[in-house]
Amino acid sequence: MGEKEKDYLKDKTCKANVVNLNWRRIPKEIRCELINEVYCGHCDDCVKIIKYYIDESEYELILKGKCSICGKDLEKTIEK
Ligand SMILES: [Zn+2]
Repeated sequence: MGEKEKDYLKDKTCKANVVNLNWRRIPKEIRCELINEVYCGHCDDCVKIIKYYIDESEYELILKGKCSICGKDLEKTIEK
């Protein structure tokens, strides 16, 4: 678990808890794949996302964080 995610978990709003539950519901292997396979337009490659946290829209979970290579902001949407 990253520092950012820990901070996020400390933020005990109802929404944050629900979002994290939805994220944890995804099988661990799939979560690992999602985190390790994010496309970075700057690197033009598949990279690992770091310092990430989970946000949520009506139909999707949104993985937000930074590229492990160039540090650029990355975002990846995951269908629920
Ligand atoms: Zn990058």
